[in-house]
Amino acid sequence: MHLYFHIPFCRQACHYCDFHFSTSLSQKETMVQMMIRELDLQKDYLQSSQIQTIYFGGGTPSLLSTHELSLLLNAIHKNYTVLPEAEITLEANPDDLSKPILTTLSQQGVNRLSIGIQSFHDPHLRFMNRIHSAQEAEVCVKQAQEVGITNLSIDLMYALPASNHAIWEQDISQALALGVEHISAYCLTIEPKTTFGNWVKKKKIEPIEDEFAAEQFEILMQSLDSQGFEQYEISNFAKNQRYSQHNSAYWQRKPYLGIGPSAHSYNGLSRHYTINRNAAYIQALSEYTIPATVEELSMTEKVNDYLLTGLRTRWGCRLEVLQELSLETYWPRMQKDFESIQKRGWIELENDVLRLTHAGKFFADRVASELFLED
Ligand code: SF4
Repeated sequence: MHLYFHIPFCRQACHYCDFHFSTSLSQKETMVQMMIRELDLQKDYLQSSQIQTIYFGGGTPSLLSTHELSLLLNAIHKNYTVLPEAEITLEANPDDLSKPILTTLSQQGVNRLSIGIQSFHDPHLRFMNRIHSAQEAEVCVKQAQEVGITNLSIDLMYALPASNHAIWEQDISQALALGVEHISAYCLTIEPKTTFGNWVKKKKIEPIEDEFAAEQFEILMQSLDSQGFEQYEISNFAKNQRYSQHNSAYWQRKPYLGIGPSAHSYNGLSRHYTINRNAAYIQALSEYTIPATVEELSMTEKVNDYLLTGLRTRWGCRLEVLQELSLETYWPRMQKDFESIQKRGWIELENDVLRLTHAGKFFADRVASELFLED
């Protein structure tokens, strides 16, 4: 089973981000106590007590003090059996980490870091309102390697306004030079409720053309492929099969429990969405209630969820699973749509597994939606 913790605090708001977080840290200690309480209340949500992966995401989990992190880890150990080989990931920003902190994290059992670097180009970092510099990012990765945390992922972002292919190629080269075995690279999407969204509305910046974004995606895929990275999910690349076990479980529809404001959970039958306001979350938990809505998944939603996440991965979507989820009606209903997409060269069917082709990776969401079942 898989555990996720949403740590809803950041030092400052990045201009592109629409995740749930607060830049006021005054409630951090209380939040940790309430998350421990939620974990306790939710301990029977999933049918297993054995933990395979733990993921601290956010927000900025590296804002937790090592003491706060140990409180959360102790609560997990109290309620569950954490398997010795469990993957324990912490998302971190470079400016929060130092060698002593990294050493403590490693001693606490954190064995994977996902470091939010985004770019090695300082003007881009400032443009995005990132708090760290390119040099801090490099030092942080090297220090993590020195203390023995070698399962490292770094996040990069492409298709930034004011970028060009030379800067993007330089970003990728610098990431590769650090010797990490996992890279997550995301295309910037400008969300309306962000600073970038506001700037687009005021015509302060121009949104990026699809063609430019597609060219940068192609540069990314070719550069990483030539260095032995496997694109095991549209935005995730790994060397030597250093896949994120936590995210892979999520993409393969394995049950997980999410703790904290805005976290989601999935138990195979329904999804559970926790409220995305820190104050309301703390208030509800202080009264021993969990402020969440539960959505029972219909047959159509289960099929469409599987298509949306599965098609983006190396594992693709198995016809057998689609048939099982749809009570055997999927293929008779959707075969014609599949053939139409296949003619465009975007999808293939091999050994009863649907997978995107290279060309199809540029249209992943569109392909999935064309294969969706309708009620
Ligand atoms: S990108 Fe990360 S650090 Fe920046 S505001 Fe969003 S959650 Fe916080």
